[in-house]
Order: sequence, then C-alpha cells, then structure tokens
Amino acid sequence: MLQAPSPSADDRFVRPEGDALRCFLCPHRCLLPPGGSGFCRVRRNEGGRLASRADGFPAAIQDDPIEKKPLLHFLPGTRTFSCGTYGCNFRCANCQNDELSRGLPPGGMRRIAPEDFVAMAVARGCRSVAFTYNEPTVWAGYAMDIALAAHGAGLATVLVSNGYITREAAEELFPLIDAANFDVKSGDPAFYRQICGGGLEPVLEAVAFFRSLGRHLEITNLLIPGRNDSDRQVEQLLDRLEPVIDKSVPLHFSRFFPQCELRHLPPTPPERVHAACAAARLRGYRYVHAGNL
Ligand code: SF4
Repeated sequence: MLQAPSPSADDRFVRPEGDALRCFLCPHRCLLPPGGSGFCRVRRNEGGRLASRADGFPAAIQDDPIEKKPLLHFLPGTRTFSCGTYGCNFRCANCQNDELSRGLPPGGMRRIAPEDFVAMAVARGCRSVAFTYNEPTVWAGYAMDIALAAHGAGLATVLVSNGYITREAAEELFPLIDAANFDVKSGDPAFYRQICGGGLEPVLEAVAFFRSLGRHLEITNLLIPGRNDSDRQVEQLLDRLEPVIDKSVPLHFSRFFPQCELRHLPPTPPERVHAACAAARLRGYRYVHAGNL
C-alpha cells in the first residue's frame, strides 16, 4: 500500500477547541477531532496541530495559456504556471477533476517549496502563476506562500476558485491575488446544496469582496442540461450577480459534457449557451463569452 507523504504542518486558519481544531478556511468550519479530517479530507488534526495533505504536494503542474483558466482580459497571450493539489470543499456531482478533488496524494511525492515553484515559472517565461485544477481554498496557506514568492519575482497571481471561503480567510488570501475567475454555479441555493454540497451566499460575498479590492475579476457559469440551464435559472443567476458585480466584469457561459456522477446527462445544447449569453448581453454585460463549444 502506498504511503502518503508527510503532511505539512501549518496552523494558519485553525483555532484549538479542547483537543480538537476548528478550521475556518471555508464556511463548512469543520471541527477536526484528534486524528480526524475535515470535509475536504486534506486538512487533518494530528496531535493538536493542523497537518495538511494538500499544501506543498502539487498533483498537477502545467504551463497553460492564461485564456484556459479562463481569463480573457488579463495579460492576454501570456502563459501562466498552474498548480493544483488535492481535496475540495465541494462535492460537485459534475466534477471535472475528481481524481484530484476527491483524492489524496500518493506515496513518494516530493514537497515543492514555493520558491522552487516560482523559479520553474520564471524559467519557463510565464508572466503569472495560477492556483487552479482543484479548489485552492483548501490549500490557501501554500497558495499564499507561492503568491508572496511570485510577487517577489515580478510575476502576477491568478486564482481559479469556487469562491467558497470565509471572510477571515479571504482577507488573508485575496490581497495577494491579482486576477481571479470565480465559478458561480447557479443563482439557486438549492442547486448549491444538492449538486455541490455547499452554499451560494458565501460565494456571492467572496466575489463582492474580491471585486471591492479592485482586482481583475471574471465569472464562469457551467450550464448543465435540466439542472441550471433554463431561461428562468439563467435569469435567477443574473439577478443574484446584479448587486455583486458591474457590467464590465467578463462573464463566461460554458457547455457541460457528461462526467462524474452526471455521466447520464447529454452535453449542453449549444443553443442554451447562446441563450444565456444573449440574456447577459441584454442586461448590459459588455464582455460575454461562450465556452467549451
Ligand atoms: S477547508 Fe473547509 S472543508 Fe476543509 S477542513 Fe477547513 S472548513 Fe473543513
């Protein structure tokens, strides 16, 4: 049996409660009993210290076009050195990266120091580093350390996130981020509960807070047939975004392809993606993009 690598000890974002630890990185606010893990499976209480099985163990490192994040209005035409680890604070039935989001690092993995990650980015001529692939909130400490090293080397920082983060953690992480794409999955709280295992309101609050910092923001919405792609559901999403962002924020409506627990669904008909784009343009959004077509 493979041995997991030694976890990274990092007491940021936890408080002791007796011999348990309360994690306040995301709104689940898990209580980690001795030897126990949180909802994300990667943050664990080992002997009263927080041990992360995500921080420092990238499952995927890749030099990507920044447009792939997707960010179409930030450093266009450049490459971003991208990193994802393990774990997630959602359980999306449609997850595209469930090997990472629901997995744990295998044995033999080497910890990659933030400075080494940034040196690799510089060596490849990337203009930025990106925290992506799985949910960076669950490894926010590692992302912050990389972000500080990246800024020191003159690189920008990119966050691709579901936005399910507490205000306390966002106040630490977001000021270190230059551009973000938040995946706002629906305007319906029931969708978040049933499909994602999380909540909508904290996501909207995180998006509003990030916007208030004046950083570059883009929003993605994945349209899933029969789940969130009706005209009414798109209008509901736009209603919920209305007080949170202004019309200069780029919106991406993406086509779903069958995967994970929703393999039985068909791909989103392209006309549904075009209908969502048209609804957003009618509301005055200036930059509306169709994705995955
Ligand atoms: S990051 Fe979220 S899901 Fe993971 S332990 Fe902390 S509160 Fe729980």
